[in-house]
Amino acid sequence: MTQYVYRFGGGVSDGGKGDRNLLGGKGSNLAEMASIGLPVPPGFTISTAMCARYYDEGERFPDSLREEVAAGLAHIEQVTGKRFGDAADPLLVSVRSGARVSMPGMMDTVLNLGLNDETVQGLARASGDPRFAWDSYRRFIQMYADVVLDLDHGSFEEALEVAKEDRGFTLDTELSAADLQELVAEYKQLVEAQWNRPFPQGVHDQLWGAVGAVFGSWQSDRAKVYRRLNDIPADWGTAVNIQAMVFGNMGETSATGVAFTRDPAKGDRAYYGEFLINAQGEDVVAGIRTPQYLTRRAREDAGARAASMEEAMPKVYGELAAVFDTLERHYRDMQDIEFTVERGALWMLQTRSGKRTAKAALKIAVDMANEGLITQSEAVLRVDASALDQLLHPTLDPDAPRDVLTRGLPASPGAASGFAVFDADTAEKRSAAGDAVILVRTETSPEDIHGMHAARGILTARGGMTSHAAVVARGMGRPCVSGAGAISIDLKTRVMRVGDREVAEGDLLTVDGTSGEVMVGAVATVEPELSGDFGALMLWADAARRMKVRCNAETPADCRTARGFGAEGIGLCRTEHMFFEAARITAVRQMILASDEAGRRAALAKLLPEQRADFAEIFEVMAGLPCTIRLLDPPLHEFLPTEEADFADVAAAAGVGVDLLKRRAAELHEFNPMLGHRGCRLGVTYPEIYEMQARAIFEAALDVAEKSGDAPIPEVMIPLVATARELDLMKAVVDRVAEAVFAERGRRLDYLVGTMIELPRAALRAGDIARGAEFFSFGTNDLTQTTLGVSRDDAARFLGDYVGQGIYARDPFVSLDVEGVGELVEIAAERGRATRPDLKLGICGEHGGDPASIDFCEGVKLDYVSASPYRVPIARLAAAQAALRR
Ligand code: ADP
Ligand code: MG
Ligand code: MG
Repeated sequence: MTQYVYRFGGGVSDGGKGDRNLLGGKGSNLAEMASIGLPVPPGFTISTAMCARYYDEGERFPDSLREEVAAGLAHIEQVTGKRFGDAADPLLVSVRSGARVSMPGMMDTVLNLGLNDETVQGLARASGDPRFAWDSYRRFIQMYADVVLDLDHGSFEEALEVAKEDRGFTLDTELSAADLQELVAEYKQLVEAQWNRPFPQGVHDQLWGAVGAVFGSWQSDRAKVYRRLNDIPADWGTAVNIQAMVFGNMGETSATGVAFTRDPAKGDRAYYGEFLINAQGEDVVAGIRTPQYLTRRAREDAGARAASMEEAMPKVYGELAAVFDTLERHYRDMQDIEFTVERGALWMLQTRSGKRTAKAALKIAVDMANEGLITQSEAVLRVDASALDQLLHPTLDPDAPRDVLTRGLPASPGAASGFAVFDADTAEKRSAAGDAVILVRTETSPEDIHGMHAARGILTARGGMTSHAAVVARGMGRPCVSGAGAISIDLKTRVMRVGDREVAEGDLLTVDGTSGEVMVGAVATVEPELSGDFGALMLWADAARRMKVRCNAETPADCRTARGFGAEGIGLCRTEHMFFEAARITAVRQMILASDEAGRRAALAKLLPEQRADFAEIFEVMAGLPCTIRLLDPPLHEFLPTEEADFADVAAAAGVGVDLLKRRAAELHEFNPMLGHRGCRLGVTYPEIYEMQARAIFEAALDVAEKSGDAPIPEVMIPLVATARELDLMKAVVDRVAEAVFAERGRRLDYLVGTMIELPRAALRAGDIARGAEFFSFGTNDLTQTTLGVSRDDAARFLGDYVGQGIYARDPFVSLDVEGVGELVEIAAERGRATRPDLKLGICGEHGGDPASIDFCEGVKLDYVSASPYRVPIARLAAAQAALRR
């Protein structure tokens, strides 16, 4: 018989500790903490396998589970010495969901389960604290009604507010036992009115109701959306954890809190967290009362008055700090922890690897390697390569004028400007229409995830550094300011107010999640400064990586940026943009409009010195490094005007009649330019164009070599080759020009001629093509278009549906379609190398900066990847990770 229930705590263990697949993240870590001797309330976990079976069997539990659960309860009863449903001294439990990965959208926790009209009396007597007993009962009814019975939780909130208002109170803690008893009666009426049945008094009914709700929530819409956004398979299922309650709401020596073992925003080695005295569960993150700091240092830094835990409960704080160290040493990672103090005794309720910003991830990985907690290779693997993006991008210009509206907590660093929107759906809609938006909410909940995803930045009026908004924003890398208490949002008139200032929905707003400032309007930004940690991690990554990293760049400025980020050459220098500059476009047009070769050559002669100067500048920046230069690629008509108004000016500048210009433009018109007269097809028809470009390249390279002594290594790349013959013809042109230039200059230079592999035919015939080509560069943008038969420019209309319905797992233009396009790359690499073992292989599509695609490139043993300048560090790290994973 399959075992579904795993006990933990009280010195008993059924195994499964650390097995997230079996017990979910929460359950496996509870078992693991208990096994290393930390104080964990006893409990048991119903495994994730039960979730699948529950759905297989028509949402019913097998009888055997009832027996196993009874044994689990008996374990808790034995350790605590209390009995579930005992009218004299009842055992209360929490029921907690827990999938392999923490998942918003899953059922929230139910606390204090096991209370009813009878047991509440027993709890009051046994604890000697009736107020506590009635507070727990009213919390239980409220949570159960909300998360299990799915009733309108607003009505319960309202009843609580009214109870306080009637008595002139502001805090929940001011309500007396009698007040709470009245509230319980009211709550029970609310349940009966909305559910048409009385609140369940049977403690076992309560338990099975909650267990069913956890499994039921696995198929909730929210959970499904989250799974889709995060690539979580539906068959993973969730576990259910049932655990003895410990009480943080038993007066002034009790408390509940959340903590990180290091600062999750900056990464500093300092305990970080919040706690609340005389409170339970979610009170800390729900923003009901303002939580207090954990450490004296943090309190002083914030200028807060309320005592920190270090000051208010020094003994328990000391125990907690020792637990932090034990956990870090055990898990070898920064931990995110939930704890409760019951009458001076510390209890651990959760631990997991903490979410962190990119900045913190970097610092923590480097620090931990330096502390000897992890190896340098592990440090390299710990930092999410895509998340580095956050560090490489601009922050607010400190000197730019700013109109500060208000301040909140610096919950997730980075700055963003955008149009203010007040709900998640609007955020999603406007962002889909291409607007940058800032999502402003009183507080966020899991229902807002899609809007948070769509927003550039997030601003909330309520909630601390560990509120939902803060945690999710840090995970997503969105700048976030939380708890900006001065803000009030009027959802009817779509206006937010701060004092007497108003910001309407659609007005520009800037949030700085590093300082906590909120500004009206958009604020200028500056380039980031990279920390020493960044340099250290990059060095470790470079030591671990096999593939080289080049950049896609065609201006000296981009080349400089890329070299600064560690680019080891140029993987793709497109030459067409150089033709568009105002001073040259006329000569380009004269070339296109010329009626014969002599005319074309005359125009090209004017372009030669310009083009040579372009290359010289680039070669100077990239001195000593290989530079792949792609000869002219786009169809010629892109250089002719399309607007009627421009024809006369262009014709005059080029010295031809308007009629001729129009005729030529009409002749060049193509129905499908992507598959038209472009790439090497231009070189086949007009070899003089490629001749001029090759001459410019070799003359510039020799100029730089003579000047600096550090010759670049030009790699001349012929685009859109389908057949070996095309390449051979074009290579002959390039080689002939090279020999001519070398003879004129009396000096030679190493260079390569190769091709882009961007057509399926080229990939298949790579064996022939490699006879002439000294390198292949996979142009995966066009290769994706031509393999999938999908035009990148027209795909937006339907690609969303394709990804949504799982036809492609991810946008194939962002992350390489490994199955299809990837197979062609593999075939080409294999066949090419069979012909020419030292064939140099690289990738220069957009995919060269995507970590998943880079991992694929390592798998087929490419020599290098090439990425846009800002993605060069991402590619360096991803290439190292790919090498380390093998
Ligand atoms: P989430 O996944 O939303 O964090 P949890 O299951 O961790 O949900 O529960 C939320 C909070 O409820 C915890 O942080 C803890 O404070 C409280 N809680 C859960 N179980 C217990 C328990 N057995 N005793 C006391 N508090 C508990
Ligand atoms: Mg929660
Ligand atoms: Mg939790």
